Amino acid sequence: MSELLTLLNRSGALRPGHTVFRNGAHADGWIEKGDVFKDSRLLNTVAQVQATHIAQNFGEATLLVGAPACGGTLTSFIGLHLGLPVAYVLTENPLHWHRMHVPGQPQRSIYIDDLICTGTGTRAVTHFLHSQGHEVLGVSAWLSRATLEMPTLTLDAHPFHTFRAPDCPLCHEGQPVIWNGIRE
Ligand SMILES: [Zn+2]
Repeated sequence: MSELLTLLNRSGALRPGHTVFRNGAHADGWIEKGDVFKDSRLLNTVAQVQATHIAQNFGEATLLVGAPACGGTLTSFIGLHLGLPVAYVLTENPLHWHRMHVPGQPQRSIYIDDLICTGTGTRAVTHFLHSQGHEVLGVSAWLSRATLEMPTLTLDAHPFHTFRAPDCPLCHEGQPVIWNGIRE
């Protein structure tokens, strides 16, 4: 088991069982990232693992980008380990920089996230970065349920499976929904 999944398991963040997401998709479990974010020391341990992966794979990065609230916090923790500047993108339409740092020169950026579910938000932020004249070296996340069209560095394969509602094997077996209205 990867260091990430060991940490998630130990914190109780893994929630196995028939799951229905707010977006309508079904799954055989989900992850409560709040169990990591509410514990700053645990978050820092995960951020250190993620920072090492970023340094090994995107060593030429000049800017770390995250979306508040959790994504921005995670990005700042990783920035501490890598010694790189951080900027936040606010994701309400139209997307825009948080005023704390509006990067002036073209940067070689990494978009940082915790859990990628559909990838819609990730695609929107990377599109925004390109529109602002920045290179996007790739995306760094703990885990992803989506397959993205850009270099995506995750810390492990997602431990749970996602299904379209009509194809859900747990529904076909008549298994009751345990987790409803989930946003991972
Ligand atoms: Zn189902």
